[in-house]
Amino acid sequence: TTPIETLEFQSEARQLLQLMIHSIYSNKDTFLRELVSNASDALDKLRLESYRDKDLVADTADLHITIESDPAERTLTVRDNGIGMTRDDVVGLIGTIAKSGTADFLAKLKEAKDAAASQDLIGQFGVGFYASFMVADKVTLVTRHAGSAEGVRWESEGEGTYTIEPVEDAPQGTAVTLHLKPEDTEDALYDYTSPAKIREIVKKYSDFITWPIRMTAEAAPAAEGEEPAEPAVETVNSMKALWARSSSEVTEEEYSEFYKHVSHDWQDPLETIRLQAEGTFEYQALLFLPSHAPMDLFLRERKRGVQLYVKRVFIMDDCESLVPEYLRFVKGVVDAQDLSLNVSREILQQDRQIQLIRRRLVKKVLSTVKSMMSSDADKYATFWREFGRAVKEGLLDDFENREAILEISSFPSTHDAEKPTSLREYVERMKEGQEHVYYMTGESRSAVENSPHMEAFRAKGYEVLVLTDPIDEMWVDAVPGFDGKQFQSIAKGQVDLDSDEDKKATEVAREQQQKDFEGLLSWMGTSLGEDVKEVRLSSRLTTSPACIVGDTHDLTPTLEKMYRAMGQ
Ligand code: ADP
Ligand code: MG
Repeated sequence: TTPIETLEFQSEARQLLQLMIHSIYSNKDTFLRELVSNASDALDKLRLESYRDKDLVADTADLHITIESDPAERTLTVRDNGIGMTRDDVVGLIGTIAKSGTADFLAKLKEAKDAAASQDLIGQFGVGFYASFMVADKVTLVTRHAGSAEGVRWESEGEGTYTIEPVEDAPQGTAVTLHLKPEDTEDALYDYTSPAKIREIVKKYSDFITWPIRMTAEAAPAAEGEEPAEPAVETVNSMKALWARSSSEVTEEEYSEFYKHVSHDWQDPLETIRLQAEGTFEYQALLFLPSHAPMDLFLRERKRGVQLYVKRVFIMDDCESLVPEYLRFVKGVVDAQDLSLNVSREILQQDRQIQLIRRRLVKKVLSTVKSMMSSDADKYATFWREFGRAVKEGLLDDFENREAILEISSFPSTHDAEKPTSLREYVERMKEGQEHVYYMTGESRSAVENSPHMEAFRAKGYEVLVLTDPIDEMWVDAVPGFDGKQFQSIAKGQVDLDSDEDKKATEVAREQQQKDFEGLLSWMGTSLGEDVKEVRLSSRLTTSPACIVGDTHDLTPTLEKMYRAMGQ
């Protein structure tokens, strides 16, 4: 057999471990939540794998998690008989951080000014397995992948390296043993070998886990002359699926911990959404809006959203058939009663019931955000700041809900430099005689505000939406209007700002001006030649002498730049 090998952690992993060892995260108890969460995932994966692969040689008779503590040795072990890991898995998953956005995260962490700022960042990032090093100065992991003959033993003190070696008689699944830091065992508050402490943490963070979490309780002291009793095994968690319980029975905190388990987030959700359908086609959904955008929201390999369960059995992560792309940040669970346990992603895409669930989820999410706008403006502002850019993609993709998406969108505007406005508010402020919703796209707020196009609108007191996201360029062309009012760019075509009487008066004046400037205009037209389509007098400018205007159907400068960058 291969001897013990010593390998180095990938550099990002090493930096993250340093952070954990020097424990800048204050709530140390969360390490157990992470280990239990991983064990639960491993059991889900094994059950699923055994459904799919009938030839898999694995024991699925009594899937469970065990927590064992040894006060004398100062160790704590979390064991599962789930899918386990191969040697390559261990090197790839435990020695490396594959999470996208890690480099960004570490760079931001370096800039973080104080402990509070770092904590907040860690809370956003989540550290999973490495949380073990908040309480342990050495971690041993023994694992055997279901179906393989040989196991692996991994050990590290969290410094630069870890060792890895084959083991002959490892049981199926994974056991993680923490060698607890001496200082924690002295403080009763952090004595993680105490059954009372373990019970308390599991109840608090992992009660809803659908697998039994067993602990060996202390046996009662034996009476004189009697054999000591066998220690009793207790199941610590209630295993109740949160989505199947009525919301009056579930506390905010339980929802919050469940959210952290499904999303791998360390922070509380912004909003919890429940949905239940009874009758011929029964399902339950428990969804969450996170309080911050994940690092990979706009990266290609982004993952994880809504999980699919069938009759309490986990079927898949990241079920893309249940939510559209533009709501990819929504997390949670859908449990459908009438699907087959071996549905595949391909089948789901065609499934009519899934399509119905999806339509209902989308409407529910949009209506939840809408009521948030009136009931809790701060919460809505957070939501929009974090996810608005993704939601706006729906204006292009989801024709059916376009109006509802516009309804929950907000945009920076000339009305208030600090606070974005909803379209509803814009429409309510529209001036007498104003027919359109005016906007201007550009690279930044100041570019838009200093644009000569703005002058006439400012003079008239008309509000203009300041659209600076690249996606804005695309949807304003695709979406005709809001509440019967057209979107009108102030930088394109002829914008008519005057009322009818004003128009007659100016018409006469303009004809005269047109004659006066005839010579200049045609001279400019010939001198500029191919560079312009036409040179004309404008009524828009109040202080600038001239400006460049796009034709109604021309691309805006920003879009032109985008297309050019894409090589078109
Ligand atoms: P995350 O759970 O967010 O993926 P972790 O750091 O908690 O991140 O775990 C990293 C990976 O290691 C997991 O995705 C999983 O593949 C693997 N892993 C961790 N613990 C176990 C376990 N008990 N059984 C099987 N695989 C595990
Ligand atoms: Mg994890």
